[in-house]
Amino acid sequence: MTSLLCLSTPSDAHRWSDERRRDGQSIGLVPTMGALHRGHTALIERSQALCNLTVVSIFVNPTQFDRSDDFDLYPRTLDDDIALCDSLGVNAVYTPTVDAMYPDGFDTTIDPGSLTYRWEGEHRPGHFAGVATVVTKLLTAVQPHIAVFGEKDFQQLAVIQHVVRDLGLPVTVVGEPTVREGDGLAMSSRNVHLAPGARAQATSIKHAIDRALDRSTSTGSPSDIVEQVTTDIQQAGGTVDYVAVVDRLSLEPVADLNNNTQLLVAAWFGGVRLIDNAALVATE
Ligand code: AMP
Repeated sequence: MTSLLCLSTPSDAHRWSDERRRDGQSIGLVPTMGALHRGHTALIERSQALCNLTVVSIFVNPTQFDRSDDFDLYPRTLDDDIALCDSLGVNAVYTPTVDAMYPDGFDTTIDPGSLTYRWEGEHRPGHFAGVATVVTKLLTAVQPHIAVFGEKDFQQLAVIQHVVRDLGLPVTVVGEPTVREGDGLAMSSRNVHLAPGARAQATSIKHAIDRALDRSTSTGSPSDIVEQVTTDIQQAGGTVDYVAVVDRLSLEPVADLNNNTQLLVAAWFGGVRLIDNAALVATE
């Protein structure tokens, strides 16, 4: 049992937040889909460093899944998640039901525009409209001063910053660096689906990124880097969705490295889709 406050409807969250704001408290929100791991913990700790109160939302949002099997199989560990939030000193968890988020007749979608045309948006149709809509609803209910997102989902972070700016939402979006396993694999709730063989192969993503980082400070051009990373992952047994070197703000591919370029990777290992990214900095 936990004494942690559980908010389960948008109006509960709104009322709680109104009262805390009236008391002069600052509120940080960490939106998650649960199955919490150390990546999420880092976001929570960042929020706690920046605000008096931290809310963690846990909602497996059906509208951002482009495949129903992915939604059905998404790991759900709510009791453990709540216990972890309690042990970390989180002030409230917000765990709305699908019906509370999307009542009968719900028919409004936020279309985040051109930042979503490529990469995840291209490979997962409708994904970012689902993300933008649910995040806007979470922000509206919890009314946080800041919201913390992981750089692991680099395009998602860019899209949310864009939506917040375009809609003039009164919240500061904070990005938190990617937390990795000891062997470099970016932590993800989906990693539990990796069979041992695929789990071993998946470390090739970080190895390929590290090799790209070495080349970016020596002779590598974006096209060479894309080819090298793609080949490294394929040789390890992965199936690449995309590898790209992009401008960090526009997410458009670049012909030359500069101090604003990012490497984006998405690849499948044994039926599990993983994404990762890293800043590439040209030193010459
Ligand atoms: P999710 O529960 O996967 O939707 O992720 C919730 C938040 O945690 C998002 O802002 C993610 O970018 C972030 N996140 C997920 N994995 C990591 C990680 N390994 N390191 C840092 N942040 C992460």
